[in-house]
Amino acid sequence: MATTVDHRQGVAQYRRQNIEALRRRLAHGNVYRAELLYRALVDPHTPGKVVPEDVVRQIWRDWARLLVIGVETGQMMTMDGLTGDDYRAAMANRDDRHWVYHRAGLPCRICGTEIALEEIGARKLYWCPRCQA
Ligand SMILES: [Zn+2]
Repeated sequence: MATTVDHRQGVAQYRRQNIEALRRRLAHGNVYRAELLYRALVDPHTPGKVVPEDVVRQIWRDWARLLVIGVETGQMMTMDGLTGDDYRAAMANRDDRHWVYHRAGLPCRICGTEIALEEIGARKLYWCPRCQA
């Protein structure tokens, strides 16, 4: 019956859309995870339960702020305080708007140490072994 087929197609399409939306959200979460830990100078290997509560709250507030910037600019801009050409470059190119994300092997913007890449929780994590020690 045509309606059954249409219904199945609709469900399949809905699932595909939801999986794609979930994949996008996970990708966004992965960018923010790396960037938020860097911004808070937290070693990504630190067990969550030993991160001081004030640091957790700081990361939470920072995330809320970055999400507002993300909604306003349409970009996952995680470097703040950029002006002029630096801001324009960051808006145009994602490689110019993150501290550590997608920068494996490149020098840390603060200390010059090579940004490390490893898998944590089956997701790629970028971090600075010196700033986040
Ligand atoms: Zn560094």
